[in-house]
Amino acid sequence: MTFRADLHSHTICSDGTDSPTELLHKAHAAGLQGLSITDHDTIEAYTPEIFALAGKLGLQLLPGVELSSEQDGISVHVLGYNIDIHSVSLKSFLANLIERRAERNRAILAKLAKKGFVIHEEELTAFGIRTLGRPHIAELMVRKKYVGSREEAFQRYLQDGASCYASGIKYTPEQVIEQIHLAKGKAVLAHPHFLRTGSFLRRLLELPLDGIECYYAVFHAAQEAPWLKLAQEKGWLVTGGSDYHGTVKPHITLGCSWVGLEHFEALKK
Ligand code: AMP
Ligand code: ZN
Ligand code: FE
Ligand code: FE
Repeated sequence: MTFRADLHSHTICSDGTDSPTELLHKAHAAGLQGLSITDHDTIEAYTPEIFALAGKLGLQLLPGVELSSEQDGISVHVLGYNIDIHSVSLKSFLANLIERRAERNRAILAKLAKKGFVIHEEELTAFGIRTLGRPHIAELMVRKKYVGSREEAFQRYLQDGASCYASGIKYTPEQVIEQIHLAKGKAVLAHPHFLRTGSFLRRLLELPLDGIECYYAVFHAAQEAPWLKLAQEKGWLVTGGSDYHGTVKPHITLGCSWVGLEHFEALKK
């Protein structure tokens, strides 16, 4: 059987819909042999129980996280792999990111309120998780019938630069890369396919990254090619994964994008 590892997935610890346990069972059922859970700004999924379950299922679990940062007021996601989940510096950095999220959510809710879309902070915290953000606000807007769908919420109000968007996670990509390195991890630029090109992208590619996410979700080979070429030129690690979120992104199945053993092992060196 070919070794396949999905290196990008989310659980209910951030904005996915599966618990870490459910996710592992789904990975096993999908025939994957490797997995990384890369929740936004949290490593809560990585409990001793989850490593024990991975062992039982014969699944190699690579510790990971997807960190939020901003360049020129635009969101940039950086993946951290093979991080030391006990790192004190990483834990305090993550706690700070969550605090900044809370502040930024307040700013977004204030902008929405001005348009007559009333959402209380308590309704957000009622989700019972730490990494709260725009996906949860979009969900509440749908529930309250302010919009017809989550997509509409993003397109009309929440996407980067939209009328109710608030920039607020002020760490730069460079700073989050530094934190990943402090925690002995590999820093990888997430889904470059979505990034603004030109000087914005050129500046990002000059940072001390270790790798780039070349295989992503349901992109075609032609869309992967430029990133694979770039990785080769830079001597960077090649990663890939589905960015599975469960039922909130129903068109993305766990394992729809993956890497083989060679790329998986390289992340652990
Ligand atoms: P946040 O961490 O609060 O900035 O929210 C980022 C998340 O929102 C991303 O991981 C996506 O899942 C989602 N998202 C961002 N932009 C869009 C968009 N235009 N349409 C749908 N979802 C989006
Ligand atoms: Zn997400
Ligand atoms: Fe992302
Ligand atoms: Fe993601």
